[in-house]
Amino acid sequence: MVKWCWLLLLLPGALWAQAIGGYSAGCQMNAQALPGSGPGFYVIRSERQRYYGQPQMIHYLQDLGLRVSQAGLPPMLVGDIAMQRGGPFAYGHRSHQTGLDADIWLRSPPDNPLPRQLETIAAVDMVDHRHYVLTADFQDKQRQLIALAAQDHRVDRIFVHPLIKQAMCRSYGESPWLRKIRPWFGHSSHFHVRLSCPRGQAHCQPQAPVPAGTGCGAELAGWINDRAGEITAGPRAPWRPVLPKACVGWVKP
Ligand SMILES: [Zn+2]
Repeated sequence: MVKWCWLLLLLPGALWAQAIGGYSAGCQMNAQALPGSGPGFYVIRSERQRYYGQPQMIHYLQDLGLRVSQAGLPPMLVGDIAMQRGGPFAYGHRSHQTGLDADIWLRSPPDNPLPRQLETIAAVDMVDHRHYVLTADFQDKQRQLIALAAQDHRVDRIFVHPLIKQAMCRSYGESPWLRKIRPWFGHSSHFHVRLSCPRGQAHCQPQAPVPAGTGCGAELAGWINDRAGEITAGPRAPWRPVLPKACVGWVKP
């Protein structure tokens, strides 16, 4: 019996980490913080304290940073992940509630940025919305970053602007991971990585699987032609979903 107690103490805290509910109506327990910087990445706007995620997300971002630096790409800028306990943000996006969503900016950082610069760094929009084309800022290093991010078994899907999906289709043809790259408006200065529910987390609610195929054909054409959709996809009122019981009282209503 005594031996058992010791064994419990030795188990890693990650065992109790939990994503609870859905990506847009949930919370998280025993989240980990992503360090402010590491090989291949910097956290930006850390004063918002949205750098907490499930251990799978923290490890995924650190692994991706390593791959980014090994590929000789500039360090990536990691924006919002989730709040320590998850739940809906007071402002901004609807999801990011369970520690399994993260935003990665498409712009590169200045060399050796100061902490103050990382707090106030401005986003760079990769889409010229008037002419509906990608700008000259969208280059091969952005394509490589998105490709590296998608080629990880932990990734469920990645949201990018439809024009960016189109660029990825043109560069990477029939690569099977293209199916994970999903067009969605509002993702022209950053892309959004969503991980699958970690194995064994019974309270994590998965999203319907992405459709088969690369998504580069008719579906993408529909998005590209939906200019009205893009125009109406502006900021929305704060999102206040009904949370699972386990999250009530754990996160701010
Ligand atoms: Zn996001």
